[in-house]
Amino acid sequence: MNSMILTLVIGLMLASVTSRKTIRNILSSKKVKIPVQSPRGLNVDSAIPISKSILDIKYDEIEGEFEYEEGHHTYKMGIPKNNFKYEVVYAGNSYFLRNIHIHTPQEHQVNGKEYPSEFHFVHSRKNPTKGEFNNLVLGVFGNPVADEKASKDFKGISWKGQSRINLEDLKTSPYFHYKGSLTTPSYDENVNWFVFPKPKNIKKSLINVAHSKIGNNNRKLQTHKGLVVYFKGSRKSSE
Ligand SMILES: [Zn+2]
Repeated sequence: MNSMILTLVIGLMLASVTSRKTIRNILSSKKVKIPVQSPRGLNVDSAIPISKSILDIKYDEIEGEFEYEEGHHTYKMGIPKNNFKYEVVYAGNSYFLRNIHIHTPQEHQVNGKEYPSEFHFVHSRKNPTKGEFNNLVLGVFGNPVADEKASKDFKGISWKGQSRINLEDLKTSPYFHYKGSLTTPSYDENVNWFVFPKPKNIKKSLINVAHSKIGNNNRKLQTHKGLVVYFKGSRKSSE
């Protein structure tokens, strides 16, 4: 009797090892790779909470000029190629700011909420490695308000002349993180996304001017199942 139970226990143990192995093989197999297209609807209830920040923004302020980009239907502040002044660190790797651009309306959604704009701070690795997630984008929603109510740190944005944006506040803001894609062609799946649920108050006139020029330049929400999303912050901070 005892030996029968023992055989059964050993059998079950082996079966569990085998199934774990199978799952690992499925996840690592390129053939069954889950698409991680962006943008996504993000929700705090289905995200995995993280207690320690995995993002380190090393710079405080950016200065530069936004220009209208005909081909990409956006306003974009390009950072010169040899400028590696604006650095963020994630998972032991450095990413450097390459451009800031705007989408109207927003691309990501947090808890189903929509905003008329979303800013993307696009960073890239200095030496990209093939097959890696070589880009890192900070997504910040723009909430339209009267001029005097604009967030202090985003008050320096202008479509004409010099702009100044301060990112100090973002360093301690809650965020969602997932591995996704570019939201413009070629839609490459190589972006470490950090999306901040708390919007920045932007001058309404500024968003209106951008939208009248660029129209709707947002990609619609992508819905493939199986995406792993992390959330840093308290539940309340995502509302
Ligand atoms: Zn974008």
